[in-house]
Amino acid sequence: MKLKQKDSQIAKLIDLETTRQKTTLQMIPSENHCTPAVREALGSILTDKYAEGYPGKRYYGGNQFIDMVENLCIERAKKLFKVEHVNVQPYSGSPANMAVYVAVCEPGDVTMGMALPMGGHLTHGWKVSATGKFFKPVQYGVDEKTHLINYDDVQKMATEHKPKLIWVGATAYPRIFDWKRLGQIADSVGAYLVADIAHIAGLIAGGAHPSPVPFVHIVTTTTHKTLRGPRGGMIMVTKKGLAKDADLAKKIDKAVFPGLQGGPHENAIAAIAVCLKEAAAPAFKTYAKQIVKNAKTLAEELKRHDFSLVSGGTENHLLLIDLRNKNITGADAQNLLESAGMSTNKNSIPYDPAGPFKPSGLRLGTPAITTRGMKEKEMKLIAGWINEVISNPASAKKVAQEVKKLCKKFPLPK
Ligand SMILES: *Cc1c(COP(=O)(O)O)cnc(C)c1O
Repeated sequence: MKLKQKDSQIAKLIDLETTRQKTTLQMIPSENHCTPAVREALGSILTDKYAEGYPGKRYYGGNQFIDMVENLCIERAKKLFKVEHVNVQPYSGSPANMAVYVAVCEPGDVTMGMALPMGGHLTHGWKVSATGKFFKPVQYGVDEKTHLINYDDVQKMATEHKPKLIWVGATAYPRIFDWKRLGQIADSVGAYLVADIAHIAGLIAGGAHPSPVPFVHIVTTTTHKTLRGPRGGMIMVTKKGLAKDADLAKKIDKAVFPGLQGGPHENAIAAIAVCLKEAAAPAFKTYAKQIVKNAKTLAEELKRHDFSLVSGGTENHLLLIDLRNKNITGADAQNLLESAGMSTNKNSIPYDPAGPFKPSGLRLGTPAITTRGMKEKEMKLIAGWINEVISNPASAKKVAQEVKKLCKKFPLPK
């Protein structure tokens, strides 16, 4: 029986969300629109199957096809990211990161990561996260003037605190990471180095951001951001990782199951496999490069309208606007733009004087609007609309109509 007949309330809410996504611009940089093929795998009968364990070593029978699904997913990820070992079972990015701690740290070990208000992620040791409670994190930030990671400071901090594990990766850093330098820093203190590429996995897969793989031991990622798959996570072990610790792959697998999780979501793993196949196709390279071109154009246009950008611009898929010269808070700007059909999100800027509850920044990105096929021409329109709405809130309704018209021309992926 169809959902509509079985549960009209949920069916109706899904319809409403579908319309919202179709008729407005999704510019939260961690979001994207996956293809119907990915959703078909995600909504498949594979959701019914228990498969605790790993291919060939399950705790349940009946996994002959599930094993093939998971192996295919692993092989595709290994090939795409050029790594030695992949675990595709983490339920999402945060559980993937937790598994890395469980694999290589003991409770109370010193770890190092970028502070959340500087653009890092909760799971890199921020105090409200379990990772900040069970371990002893030291946190680096960005330079107050340039808003770039100061690698000399990172080296100093590593030398002083001798962390067991160093995290690199961000949710609001618009610049390229110097993986080589970070690799040298980690090696100088004997730390495991993890690249958390949750935001930029699709850019890396598409050749639009340098890969950390030659320089780090472990790579973690989500699969639903620029990689454009279902919600999920992966942990990868590199050649360098195996050279440092021959048991690293085994430790990671044991940390995921039985350390932290039970049965893997094989429907999600099948959907990840589909997204990895899409990401290996030539068209994905074009897509990844266009994400960056679009972000650059959006940044240049916003600067023309006197918007101030953290770090002065962008080299990836996202930009962070410092709204202080516009006399509006991040929250108010987010709400205002939402009423004009543009979904963005409030975010702290580095050294934010307003504090984390009323941040001065607005974070936006181009992965989802690029998936719809938008290019530089549309970015100029969008920057103009953002400027119009922020300078004259009364224009929001009119702009929402124009956004809707643009959305009609650029449908969601088929
Ligand atoms: C999104 C993100 C995560 C966590 O992913 P969830 O799937 O939301 O748990 C981890 N690290 C970074 C850098 C992220 O951007």
